[in-house]
Amino acid sequence: MKKTLKAFGQMLLVSFVLLLANSVFAAGGVVKSPTGTAPERYVYYPGTEELKKDEIRLIACGTGLPAARRDQAATCFLAELGNGDKFLFDIGTGSMPNVAALMIPYDFLDKVFLTHLHTDHWGDLAALWAGGWTAGRTGPLRIWGPTGATKDMGTAYAVDRWLEAYTWDARTRNFVLSPKPGEITVKEFDYKAENGVVYQENGATIKSIPAIHAGDGPVSFILEYAGLKVVIGGDTFPNKWFIKYAANADLAIHETFLTPPDLVKLYGQSPGQALGVGTQIHTSPQAFGKVMSTIKPRYAVGYHFFNEQSTHDHILMGVRETYSGPLSLAVDNMVWNISKEKIVERMVVSPDQAWAVGGPNKPPSPPAKGTVPDPITDFIKAGRWQPAEAAQAEMIKEFKKKYNMK
Ligand SMILES: [Zn+2]
Ligand SMILES: [Zn+2]
Repeated sequence: MKKTLKAFGQMLLVSFVLLLANSVFAAGGVVKSPTGTAPERYVYYPGTEELKKDEIRLIACGTGLPAARRDQAATCFLAELGNGDKFLFDIGTGSMPNVAALMIPYDFLDKVFLTHLHTDHWGDLAALWAGGWTAGRTGPLRIWGPTGATKDMGTAYAVDRWLEAYTWDARTRNFVLSPKPGEITVKEFDYKAENGVVYQENGATIKSIPAIHAGDGPVSFILEYAGLKVVIGGDTFPNKWFIKYAANADLAIHETFLTPPDLVKLYGQSPGQALGVGTQIHTSPQAFGKVMSTIKPRYAVGYHFFNEQSTHDHILMGVRETYSGPLSLAVDNMVWNISKEKIVERMVVSPDQAWAVGGPNKPPSPPAKGTVPDPITDFIKAGRWQPAEAAQAEMIKEFKKKYNMK
């Protein structure tokens, strides 16, 4: 009986301490009224938070692998700057639903910087290109990407051929939509440039450094803004350029790959492949940790693996052998607000059923009748089933009346 009382007392004490902790440190802030608003939910709701002039918001829209997984798209990071600039770094397969869920007008998502041309880094360009074209972008897409050792291994060659492959798509849209947003301009830069300026406008500078990955061409990017340095590492084995130019970054992203045993067990690779891919073409957790303990960023981010409990733990144990500083192993929809004072990490809370949001620019007019060849021949048109026309005639009449259409 005495024992039970003592246990009960201890439980009360623990509850009290927990209660105290909750009321003081609650992640969601203190809610004072049942009908009022919460001051802080410790998550990021897109479109509800103004960026400070000297602040960068960085959102992981893809952190996974070339193989598709519903819960993790392939590489894509969106940087939003206090000056209004937004840059997409890579647009890997499956990443566009995460980007679109932020409900940013497509006109603000027109700049893409590619680290290299593996599909897990640009496989969702189609969704940005055609999706943005039909949902509010008013001008061309702009892409920056590295040259290759030969012309046909460079970004311009890839994007030109890519557009050519989508001839049917573009030609049929051109007939009903303005062709402008369907255009893509490519600016190639030298993949061998060391800290070479790729982009410089409005107080924002983006530089590139070479990466060592699979073939010549891949790079990493360094974004400088308001005295802040954010490094977006592409696929690479740890390299001397990263060590030199990413040193003292405010936030440094670098890949850290699945461990060789997990590549064998979970990714179906042979031990030989696993060792080659996991320690030579990509960066092992131990090597990632060594990079970070050498460059000493304010905050380190590892990505490029399917992040679940076991893989996370295996990678974390590897990284902690060589690095003890601030670290996140990224999942999709992680967001970092970066300023001189602090770096805050939260998760994005966004809808699964997002709609495109209009921007400030007036949509361009579709081409005038007769200026673009009709992509449907009379043979196909003659197959139109007339009862369908009759069935919708009344609805069309009312719609036209409502909008004063002829
Ligand atoms: Zn790659
Ligand atoms: Zn990759």
